[in-house]
Amino acid sequence: MNNPIECEGLKPCRCPGCGEKIDAATAVSPDVPDGYRPSVGDFTVCLYCASALVFEKTRGSTLLSLRPATIADINALDSSSKRDISRATEAILAARARRRRN
Ligand SMILES: [Zn+2]
Repeated sequence: MNNPIECEGLKPCRCPGCGEKIDAATAVSPDVPDGYRPSVGDFTVCLYCASALVFEKTRGSTLLSLRPATIADINALDSSSKRDISRATEAILAARARRRRN
């Protein structure tokens, strides 16, 4: 995984997949430049449950929040982005499985 990106624009929220608190984001693609901040429509993957999530504008605010990615969201991605999300999801699920075994 890349280094965490400060995400001042992300409103602390609960993951729609597992309910864990999310208040930061990490880039999953090596193509993301240092200092990049997520914007509306960007994807992320929850580090707790590996759900694919999409940043969206928070109603009545300039902050971002997260919603679950839809099949249409994922189908609209280019193959490189789909691969990045798949790799991140697999890495998170593998780490969770290792933790359960220990
Ligand atoms: Zn989650």
